[in-house]
Amino acid sequence: MKRSEVDRNKLSPMMQQYMDIKDKYDDCIVFFRLGDFYEMFFEDAITASRVLELTLTGKQAGLDERVPMCGIPHHAYSSYIDELIDKGYKVAICEQLEDPKLTKGMVKRDVIQVVTKGTRIDSNIDSKNNNYIANIYDFDYCYGISYADVSTGEVYATLLDEDIDKLLHEVVKKGFPEIIVNDTINREIVEKLRSSYHILVSIEKNMIDTDDYSYIYENIEDEKIIVTLKHLLGYIIDTKKGDLHHLQACQILKSSTYLKFDINTTKNLELIETIRTRERQYSLLWLLDKCKTAMGSRFLKNTILNPLTDKNELERRYDFVSILSTEFILRDDLIKSLDNVYDLERLVGRISYGNLNAKDLLQLKSSLKELPTIKKIIEELHFDKDIETFDEIYSLLDRTILEDAPFTLHEGHLIKEGYNKELDELKSIRSGSRDFILEMEKDEKERTGIKNLKVGYNKVFGYYIEVSKGQCNLVKDEYGYERKQTLANCERFVTPLLKEKENIILGAEEKIISLEYKLFMDIREVIKRYVSPLQKVSKVLSEIDMLQAFSIVSDTYKFTRPEITNDKSLKLIECRHPVVEQVMKDKYIPNDIVMDKTTNILLITGPNMAGKSTYMRQCAITIIMAQIGCFVPCKSATLPIFDQIFTRIGASDDLVSGESTFMVEMREANYAIQEATENSLILFDELGRGTATYDGMSLAQAILEYIHDKIKAKTLFSTHYHELTFLEKDLKQLKNVHVSALEENGHVTFLHKVKPGAIDKSYGIHVASLANLPKSLIDRAEEVLNVYEKKSIKKEVFTQTSLFELNEEEIVNKENPIEEKIKEINPLEMTPMEAINFLYNLKKEIKERK
Ligand code: ADP
Repeated sequence: MKRSEVDRNKLSPMMQQYMDIKDKYDDCIVFFRLGDFYEMFFEDAITASRVLELTLTGKQAGLDERVPMCGIPHHAYSSYIDELIDKGYKVAICEQLEDPKLTKGMVKRDVIQVVTKGTRIDSNIDSKNNNYIANIYDFDYCYGISYADVSTGEVYATLLDEDIDKLLHEVVKKGFPEIIVNDTINREIVEKLRSSYHILVSIEKNMIDTDDYSYIYENIEDEKIIVTLKHLLGYIIDTKKGDLHHLQACQILKSSTYLKFDINTTKNLELIETIRTRERQYSLLWLLDKCKTAMGSRFLKNTILNPLTDKNELERRYDFVSILSTEFILRDDLIKSLDNVYDLERLVGRISYGNLNAKDLLQLKSSLKELPTIKKIIEELHFDKDIETFDEIYSLLDRTILEDAPFTLHEGHLIKEGYNKELDELKSIRSGSRDFILEMEKDEKERTGIKNLKVGYNKVFGYYIEVSKGQCNLVKDEYGYERKQTLANCERFVTPLLKEKENIILGAEEKIISLEYKLFMDIREVIKRYVSPLQKVSKVLSEIDMLQAFSIVSDTYKFTRPEITNDKSLKLIECRHPVVEQVMKDKYIPNDIVMDKTTNILLITGPNMAGKSTYMRQCAITIIMAQIGCFVPCKSATLPIFDQIFTRIGASDDLVSGESTFMVEMREANYAIQEATENSLILFDELGRGTATYDGMSLAQAILEYIHDKIKAKTLFSTHYHELTFLEKDLKQLKNVHVSALEENGHVTFLHKVKPGAIDKSYGIHVASLANLPKSLIDRAEEVLNVYEKKSIKKEVFTQTSLFELNEEEIVNKENPIEEKIKEINPLEMTPMEAINFLYNLKKEIKERK
């Protein structure tokens, strides 16, 4: 039965209420509160019963058939929501807004919150990652991007040129789980985000319609960014509905202040997860994350994804890392203190939004307790940021919240004695009466002589006197016992006195619970006034935590402080790959990566498995580590500040579906070539191998020449085309290096040592034998290789001073007898070797003629 097809006039009033609400939240699964359950109906019920494996039942709602229905107990809803959200659904929570006991007729209901992937704020979200909701606003000539972490209150915005590829690179790199877009956006973007990157995308029209949050954009001048933010805020406020004043003033992201790289680089360098398992373990983040707080871990992750370009800021970080390493006793104290600091950022978010409990306030208290110590330590260490200590809030929390307060706010036992007179009085009434009940049990036992008589309590019947079946005959009329309940082995009674005391106790209990709740909320209101300074201190703590982690890893793994130069020379002495070094069993061989002012390209040759791509990766990782303010895995390191990193390493990840590996490879190469500047780093690993040898080699050469002449970016280029090593003669800023292998008695050992000059052997067959290909096959390959090697002659590459400096005259086709020879052959009937030989002879002839 479809919701859209039912005759609404026939529906019961409650189902009509459901329909009205569901109409407004059409793209959500509506959890409709009915007593102790959240129920789902129609298509929602069918979907939820399938996804959550619930029994699908039905409900009489005035129609001929029963309406499909399934439900979950209200107290267990959060795990069900998690599951639906993970699977990409949105859930609208519709609550009863009135107490059914006190309401005549239908209870008012409405949605109090929509839970979506990007706007979650509950304590179940992953503490080590930010959770962003993003907005792309298409202005036809540029894009506005804004995003917020509703749990921490951070808000960011930027503008991008109208270029879909760049937009996707940017958006995908940030890893947004959910994106909203404006309704005039180019639908190709929506399609790609959904189908290629599986991001939850909704098209939204609404803008925020209140000025309550105008402080978020009041310092921004660009109208486009303001529109983008208003669109984002409209959605956040529509979904969260509660108080969101912990959202902070928007920070504008200026691309020049960050070292930029795209999602492929993040993946290829395994910065935050490994390529193979897609897990954090064995990534750079994993290695560096010795943070003590979740805020520190998130800050570190964001920093790795957005390294800095400001030399002063980096020097400031190196200074602090360095002093922490020297003052290790203070560092230990700092670490101990940070260990007791909870996720302040998210606690503050919950305090502001209101979904907090007493445990949150206890965590806040424990965190605040450490601030004076941390403040003192960082003053001693001359860290240039200050820490506010919030003594008043600490003292308030210390005086008020009970250490063993429960999770819920509706059971009482929240507030300490001595804080509120009225509460203390109520509590003493309650305990006086409780004592009275214990007394009464004693007295009644004596009065009646019934030894196992007990006074007990349960929620349904209240206080009672319990007598076992065997002794019921001892209960006399004169005792005034009134039978209340009969159980299998006992009878329960009440007396007028017991009822009277019960009224006092329960009356006090009820008052205590509501007073404690009110006091708790008042305390929350007081703390809410400090949201902004608490957020500020959270940021400072995050940075300190990250820097202490840098200091720890630098000591543990023997990293050194890098020196940043203003000229374009890169000198990494005895550089290692910091993760491979830790993970591998054998000894890691350090290598120098040296590119002085006049060297821009290292052309790396060497057999497979020699360590070429590891060498390239360690160069980029060292640069990233230096530009996040960490020490680097080298004996010494001098490097300039880079503006961008481009990588084309390893197997291609099918970025844009439907394209061949080679096409993707070329696209990525193009992206680098278009965007790189002389301050960038380019890593090209065997570029061109995805096509026929000569195509690939020619392209590789042309790209090298282009980078050499036009871009002048620092480039590491590994290749199997040994022919390309001849380029060193003509391209002045290109140097050959090779990774050596040792060949002894037919055995090859990889030394992983990078040395100057070129190598002309591939050892491909050797690597194949390591992969355990059948021996007969390997022998045959050796045989074939011998034949080729005997026939072949050194191939030479077609070099000119530069392809890009050709002048018109040089490319005019002059009359040439060689042309005749070429006309005679049919390339399609030649083997590659015949073609090479033919080409070689032609070339020889030309030389001889000259
Ligand atoms: P290539 O790119 O030349 O095929 P890789 O860089 O993938 O080779 O390295 C192959 C393996 O060699 C790596 O898995 C690593 O274990 C090892 N290796 C690479 N560089 C080193 C090094 N400097 N020291 C020790 N082992 C290394």
